Amino acid sequence: MADPAERFAYDIGLTTRFRGITRRQGMVWRGPAGWAEWSPFLDYHGAELAPWLAAAEEAAEFGFPAAVRDRVPVNCTIPAVGPEQAYAIAARSGCGTAKVKVAEPGQSLADDQARVDAVRDALGPAGRIRVDANGGWDHEVAVEALRVLSRVELEYAEQPVASVEELARLRRTLVRKGISVPIAADESIRRSGDPERVAALGAADVAVLKVQPLGGVRRCLELAESLGLPVVVSSALETSVGLAAGVALAAALPELPFACGLNTRALLVDDLVSDSLIAVDGEIAVRPVSVDVEALQRCAAADEDRAAWLTRLDETREVLA
Ligand SMILES: [Mg+2]
Repeated sequence: MADPAERFAYDIGLTTRFRGITRRQGMVWRGPAGWAEWSPFLDYHGAELAPWLAAAEEAAEFGFPAAVRDRVPVNCTIPAVGPEQAYAIAARSGCGTAKVKVAEPGQSLADDQARVDAVRDALGPAGRIRVDANGGWDHEVAVEALRVLSRVELEYAEQPVASVEELARLRRTLVRKGISVPIAADESIRRSGDPERVAALGAADVAVLKVQPLGGVRRCLELAESLGLPVVVSSALETSVGLAAGVALAAALPELPFACGLNTRALLVDDLVSDSLIAVDGEIAVRPVSVDVEALQRCAAADEDRAAWLTRLDETREVLA
């Protein structure tokens, strides 16, 4: 087994470009309670990194709260591709729920509609479809887009507009116009600096929670309770070490009415464990993962990247202290 005091920096390619990046980097280490992943994206800086470190320290020092379920349903993710490819991804996913990317720059509402219709064909009438605009619409465009797209019945629309205030306004407009699409807040929860505002302003029907940017599994459980909204757990594109924390949160929530966005292992070309957390028939089994020493060597970051991560870790420790 690896030296527990050692911090490993990894560097793993992505199968497709995502958030503008083609490689995923981060650190993993083992504490008394288990393995932890610390992998803030490289465009996060300073105090923003502190909750990601609190999440890693929770995993290493304390482990996770007790699970109340042994399987977690997950969605497949349909990128901003054409309808044929969207149909194929949804059909072969084994998932009953699909998250469809919409509002891609350079594309039109007709592109979004064709993609959503293709996914409805692939999943059939019992399938659940949610769309994610990543805040890419303004108010008027969002109202029109959701009026059109909701003809196929949407489970919810994730972050259709950018700010908490805009979400609240859109939610009221949709109700007034009789457009029946619940609103989920994602970026507004994890990057606004004040997740409670989403509930205070009545800005969403569903909260998307990610363990690392929100500071750990226990912090997310507290947040779920204080928000009083149904929760969807999503990953931050981690290796299976980090995904295990997301699965632990989804397993510990008292209620889990929606499929979670945790089936993202397939977006990485490699993994740090021998038994990756990948869905079978639309569900991930709740179980510990074991880090593989050979995989740590295979995925090791270059020396200069490892040095940069160690510096980043020291700086974040100071912020957290
Ligand atoms: Mg999202």
